[in-house]
Order: sequence, then structure tokens, then C-alpha cells
Amino acid sequence: MTSATSATSAIEIDLVSDTSTRPSRDMLARMMAAETGDEQRGEDPTVLRLCEQIAGLLGMEDALFLPSGTMCNQIAFLVHCRPGDEIIAAENAHVFGSEGAGASALAGAQFHTIATPSGIFDAAAVAAHIRAPRMRRPRSRVISVEQTTNRGGGAIWPVEELAAIVALAREHSLAAHMDGARLFNAVVAAKTPAKIFTAGFDSAWVDLSKGLGCPVGGVLAGSKDFIAEAWHWKHRLGGAMRQSGILAGAGLYALDHNVERLAEDHANARLFADIVRGLDGVTVSPENVVTNILFLELDERLEAAAIATALKEHGVRIGVEGPRRMRVVTHLDVTRDGVERAGRAFAETVQTMLG
Ligand SMILES: *Cc1c(COP(=O)(O)O)cnc(C)c1O
Repeated sequence: MTSATSATSAIEIDLVSDTSTRPSRDMLARMMAAETGDEQRGEDPTVLRLCEQIAGLLGMEDALFLPSGTMCNQIAFLVHCRPGDEIIAAENAHVFGSEGAGASALAGAQFHTIATPSGIFDAAAVAAHIRAPRMRRPRSRVISVEQTTNRGGGAIWPVEELAAIVALAREHSLAAHMDGARLFNAVVAAKTPAKIFTAGFDSAWVDLSKGLGCPVGGVLAGSKDFIAEAWHWKHRLGGAMRQSGILAGAGLYALDHNVERLAEDHANARLFADIVRGLDGVTVSPENVVTNILFLELDERLEAAAIATALKEHGVRIGVEGPRRMRVVTHLDVTRDGVERAGRAFAETVQTMLG
């Protein structure tokens, strides 16, 4: 066994990301039992069922199964944009900073970003970023929002704000796109049906491989015309699969079993925040943890990398986001007890370091 492997296997409580989950036995059983066919020919019944369910939940006409959330975003931009177009999004959006500049590399679009620590912005901020139509200007084309916000600490977009943004998009003939990687976290935390959040959006998607606990996949939804165009890009990018019903089976299992339980992840994130809040040298952000993500801002006496190394000794892993910034993400493979142990280990480590 290499040292890298043994270091990984010693981690019992992994709070780095909600992608750290493994498919459960029951999920695997559902995958193995899935009816399959050739997805590219529209003959995989399990994929068709999953797409139909997600389209229904999001109030959209149609949906498309894709290998990842990143591909959902990129295909949406490829359909909405022509080269030289501009996408308005938060400065800390996943589409801007965490997708290998895909929108510019693939769709030829550039970003016009809005500075907002929570990842949420209002219609007035969008209006200030819409370009007047002039020959020498980039053409504003898409408004992209992230529900919930990842770098913004799991914040939830209020329905009214989304509606105002959709109205503005209509007024200026822009497309409204929702990166719904964690849309179901918002659904459960705000007790609001998904289709209420996505109302009026031209495209929206959900990730199956985040809090829902699937190994692979995202589902992109929109109008029939939008999805027909998205199919072309799915083929071009090599995202068209064959008997992918085994993967869609995991998604159907997750819709049945792993949505309502997201409330436990939210309670666990609040528990972690409650344990470490008030510690000397540490600020919990956001102040009110609403879903499954929180950040720990450290003062000048502490170093994120050193804390992460010390936590490994406790079998705990949390994310290093910067020299003095750490991220904690709860998910279905960490228990309440595990989160409590991780919180205590973090508190002890900080107290020891501050002597
Ligand atoms: C994870 C994530 C993505 C990308 O999803 P993948 O399935 O990892 O490709 C996009 N947007 C947000 C907000 C995310 O958190």
C-alpha cells in the first residue's frame, strides 16, 4: 500500500465535499436491477424515466441525462450563446472559476461578473451589468444563478429574487440559467418545490453526484427545443452514452430516498457551526448556516494547511480554501456523531495551536 492510500483510508470523517459519498448497497442494488437500452437511440427506459421525473420536478418540458454537472452548465451555455456573447454571473460562481474557463473555451462566451460574497445578487445588480446594445459592446446573453451558492456558503436564493431576475431577462431577451447543483438542498431547507425556484428559467439542472449520493451524473432540463439542441452538444462532446440506465438507476433511487434526508445534512452543518462558533481566532461564515456548506475564516495566528494536517490525526478531513479559509460540507456519508467529533477535533486543534 502506498502512503497516499493509507493516508486516505485513515480518514473516517470526510467533510471536504458532498461529492465524497459512495453509492450505498441499496443504491447499487437499484443500479444492478435497472432496465437498460441504448441511451443514444432514446431506448434506455431508466434514463427516460429519470429525465421525465426531473423535468416534472423542475416544471420543464424535457430533460437530458449527462455525465456531470459541469457538462450541464457547458451545454446550456453552448446552446444559449454565440461567440462574443456575455454571461452575467456571480464572481464566485462555479461556472466562472471552477470549470476550466469552459464557457470561453467552448462557447466563446465571456463573463461579466458581479461581486457578491454570498453568491446572491439582485435584479438591480444584473441591470447594471446588462450592456447597452452597441456595435462595439459584448452582447449580454445569459444570466446565470447558482442555487444553492457553493462558494457563497450554501445560501438560498429567495423565490422573489429569482422571479425578478427572470422578469429582467425577459425584458432584455436574455436567457435565464440555473446551476442547480444543490437545488434540492434549497428545496428541502426552504420547503419550496423545485419548480417554484425554476419558474421562468430557460434552463436548469440538478447534480446527482453531490448531496444526492450518486456516483455519476447530472440532469439538464428546459424546453423541448432547448433539449433538442442540447442533444447535439451531448453527442459532439462525447457525453452520449449507451446502457447508462445503470447510472440513471442510481438517480431514481436518490430521488426516492435521498432528497428529504438532506435536512439531516443541514442540521449537521448547523451542529458543526454551533460547536466551533465563538472559538478564539475563528469566524463561521455565513453567520446563519442554512444548508450543508460553511466556511471557517481564520485570523492571522492560524493557518488552514496546518489545521488540516493536524485534523488528519483525528481521522478528519476538511477543505483548505485559502491560507486562512477552510470549508466544511456535510453529506449522507457522515453521521451526526461524526460531525460532532469533527467539530470537537477542530476546536481542540485550534485551542492547542493558540496555546
Ligand atoms: C459541483 C458543482 C458543479 C459541477 O458539477 P460536477 O458534477 O462536479 O461536474 C457546478 N456547479 C456547482 C455550484 C457545483 O457545486
